[in-house]
Amino acid sequence: MSEELTEYQGPATMEKITSLAKRRGFVFQSSEIYGGQSGAWDYGPLGIELKNRIAGNWWKTMTQLHDNIVGLDAAILMHPRTWEASGHVENFTDPLVDCKKCKTRFRADQIDPKNLAEKKCPDCGGELTDTRKFNLMFKTHIGPVESILGEIDNNLIYLRPETAQGIYVNYKNIIQSNRMKIPFGIAQIGKAFRNEIVTKNFIFRTCEFEQMEMQYFVKPGTDVETFNEWKKQRWAYYEKLGVKMDHLRWHQHGPDELAHYAKDAYDIEYLFPMGWKELEGIHNRSNYDLTRHTEFSGKDLQYIDQENGNERYIPFIIETSAGLTRTLLMLLCDAYDEEKVADKGNDDDYRTVLRFHPTVAPITVAILPLMKKDGLAELAQDIRAELREDFATDYDQSGAIGRRYRRQDEAGTPFCVTIDYESKENGTVTLRFRDSMEQVRLPRAELPDRLRKEIREYKRLK
Ligand code: ATP
Repeated sequence: MSEELTEYQGPATMEKITSLAKRRGFVFQSSEIYGGQSGAWDYGPLGIELKNRIAGNWWKTMTQLHDNIVGLDAAILMHPRTWEASGHVENFTDPLVDCKKCKTRFRADQIDPKNLAEKKCPDCGGELTDTRKFNLMFKTHIGPVESILGEIDNNLIYLRPETAQGIYVNYKNIIQSNRMKIPFGIAQIGKAFRNEIVTKNFIFRTCEFEQMEMQYFVKPGTDVETFNEWKKQRWAYYEKLGVKMDHLRWHQHGPDELAHYAKDAYDIEYLFPMGWKELEGIHNRSNYDLTRHTEFSGKDLQYIDQENGNERYIPFIIETSAGLTRTLLMLLCDAYDEEKVADKGNDDDYRTVLRFHPTVAPITVAILPLMKKDGLAELAQDIRAELREDFATDYDQSGAIGRRYRRQDEAGTPFCVTIDYESKENGTVTLRFRDSMEQVRLPRAELPDRLRKEIREYKRLK
């Protein structure tokens, strides 16, 4: 086995990624004209395409490619008892300290223990407060008034901090409506909210984000084997996405990190420009969740195994929990490259290129007429009309062709089709490949099949 990388190996920096994301319309600061809202980001035209494509790819992998995994879209607002049962009201806390002098807030577990012991601010040397526990759930009120009756806040409601609980509370509904038999899984993609103390590194850790979670219900005793199987499948998923595999590693939770309910947990970590960080968690959650929901709801959530003499048990749950918005950041960093492509001694010698896998690239194919005149633009529009039913297309007729290629490289478009005078004469077009910059001529009629083949067989060059 090769040595594990200790430092990020590549040309990306968080500054470059943030700036490219804004310049090209992937991600903008939320409510920027008012000075921005920390912990929240807006996804622009290329960003939403990339996000949808990642979500679609994950959804296909989890549902379409499995016999026994179905989907769900549960509400963000859930009965508050859900979060008592799940343990979030009691345990979903981060330790927090404030500097009395500069007012900066820190997560106590993320600063040097020496500073904590001496109560000394890592930024200004001022005095730190005692460590307090801070619950990460956003609270709000439902209904027209904030009624506080004695000690009990009747209208209190939480924004969900994870999508998983929406799956657990629907597990019986899904068994009944879809005649699911254990083992089976439920997949869900959706928003989650956490009042994070420190939000930095662009969209890595935000207060509003999206998760892609799959909860797999199994018979107790088969959980360890299934857990190992899901570890393999989730690793293979990133391999298929064409991610740099030496930038991925496993991290097993030690006894001090393991959640109180978990029997075993591994994170898949990615080597971001700021270091190794969690991308996805794979957890053996034991029978904790359904046991607790049984207790708190008073509903019997046992599974009745009709094929085994009506044997009853509370299933174990294996969870795969990935961040959608964090995966998007990972792919931006992973795809980012800078390359010298000419030797003219000016800015055009270099290109910035996003080497996205074609299945997630926001634009799959750009159609570029060499000239606007002489009917080339019309011919290009005609070709685009033919391709757009099956492929995400873009059309660009302005500027020198080299500049247009660079613009598409920077957006991560894997294929460009150029229409020139020869296209008018003999019906052939030029297909240009983003990664190698190679070009081939082919009859227009062969384009759809050729593109499909290139997408299917795509192998990243570097
Ligand atoms: P951490 O310890 O870093 O706060 P966590 O271990 O609590 O995170 P999980 O609850 O396991 O995270 O969440 C599953 C996945 O959801 C994470 O692997 C990550 O991809 C994503 N995620 C969690 N919190 C955030 C956040 N604040 N912003 C963006 N993505 C997040």
